Amino acid sequence: MSARVLVVDDVLPNVKLLAAKLMREYFDVVTAYNGPEALERIKRDAPDIVLLDVMMPGMDGFEVCERIRNDPATMHIPVVMITALSDAADRVRGLEAGADDFLTKPVNDVALFARVRSLVRLKMMMDEWRLRESTSGQFGILDNAPMVGAETPNGARVLVVEDSAIDFDKVAETLKRDDDSVVPAETCAHGLDLALGEEFDLIVISLTLIEEDGLRLCSQLRSHERTRQTPVLLIADEGDMGRVAKGLELGANDYLLKPIDRNELLARVRTQVRRKRYHDRLRQNYEQSLSMALTDSLTGVFNRRYLSAHLPRLLERSRENNKPVACLMFDIDHFKLVNDSYGHAVGDEVLKEVANRANRNLRNFDLVARTGGEEFVVVMPDADRDTAVTVAERLRHRIGDEPIVVTAPVGRITVTISIGVAVTHDVSDSVEMLMKRADDALYQAKREGRNRTVSAGEGTVVLPA
Ligand code: GH3
Ligand code: MG
Ligand code: MG
Repeated sequence: MSARVLVVDDVLPNVKLLAAKLMREYFDVVTAYNGPEALERIKRDAPDIVLLDVMMPGMDGFEVCERIRNDPATMHIPVVMITALSDAADRVRGLEAGADDFLTKPVNDVALFARVRSLVRLKMMMDEWRLRESTSGQFGILDNAPMVGAETPNGARVLVVEDSAIDFDKVAETLKRDDDSVVPAETCAHGLDLALGEEFDLIVISLTLIEEDGLRLCSQLRSHERTRQTPVLLIADEGDMGRVAKGLELGANDYLLKPIDRNELLARVRTQVRRKRYHDRLRQNYEQSLSMALTDSLTGVFNRRYLSAHLPRLLERSRENNKPVACLMFDIDHFKLVNDSYGHAVGDEVLKEVANRANRNLRNFDLVARTGGEEFVVVMPDADRDTAVTVAERLRHRIGDEPIVVTAPVGRITVTISIGVAVTHDVSDSVEMLMKRADDALYQAKREGRNRTVSAGEGTVVLPA
């Protein structure tokens, strides 16, 4: 993982020292010597993380950090502030300005590298989601991309694994200021149980448990699907930076040293909760836009766009495996009459039920798509002509034999369908040719009286009603 690190400091030797250390760890390093130059660099070099000095003439680190956070193009880049200030109040100010961490000079290398690696990992995951979201945005469905800063940090559900009553109370009392609901666990096993049972916005793990090692829990949380993405905040003793570093490697998101400073705890918890909510929203938007882009909103089956993307790949695979692909194209007979007699809304009900029946009567890996108003395509991998015709006939009966219940006064409507069947025959067959044969067969079925299946290709077979 060759991540790019931007080092910002107004003191040249500081920059050189840090840059040299980072390069030894195989990071790609870029540098800046004041605030405005740092912002320039960020725009130009797109770093994966920024290590930012606080005290600089002109624009100080707090301001640089706020500007990074307020620009949608850069707000997701992790920022670690590095400073001679050691006051808790300054640390909190840095975190509130949007920094991911606040390290005090002289910086402990182990802590620094672990921190940088874990933040870079997190950013790469976020980048992936941002990319997917922007791809789905191109389908024209997503209008407003979420912002990290816009997420509220209040009312979070927080699991706290801590066996010291004093420390637990301190954490719980502090988090109450944000109306968080805090769930206690005194052992790792209990903590894991709770975490697997319900969704938390944050899991706080003490590394000072008397009987156990909280790092094991951290590792276990990362190995379960349910908790893989849940933020983890470690609470450790000051002298325990080695284990903190290990925890960050294992996937913990942040840490806090005892004695706990309430404001710092609150600021770190808020950062994690905001980021979790941002990430959830990205994923949710993505999944929603994906389903909107690829499925038909009326019937829930796939749409033409999905079929066009999927069919060529399916054909290619079946060519490689030397197996056929069958395609059924079907269309509701005299559907216009349904609309004309009972209204469009009732027509919609009929369409939905037809799609449902098609879905219910096919194998899991057969695909149903609505390709036009009342026209559907079913694609069946590994199905030969006999199978395809059998399935087509079953479908035709399942739809036509049983009336569809609708909200119109008549209560029930019977519709029939006509089906064209086509099956791939050799390696030269293409999606277009396959669909054309299915379409021709469907047209023939219509012409010959409807409510029937016609199988196209060598020796056309017509199955009457
Ligand atoms: P044929 O047997 O030849 O297929 O006759 P048909 O009446 O089914 O075919 P035609 O193509 O003349 O009419 C199709 C009708 O489907 C016309 C259109 O209003 C209706 N339609 C298309 N999309 C929708 C839809 O989403 N909802 C409803 N209710 N009707 C639709
Ligand atoms: Mg300085
Ligand atoms: Mg029709």
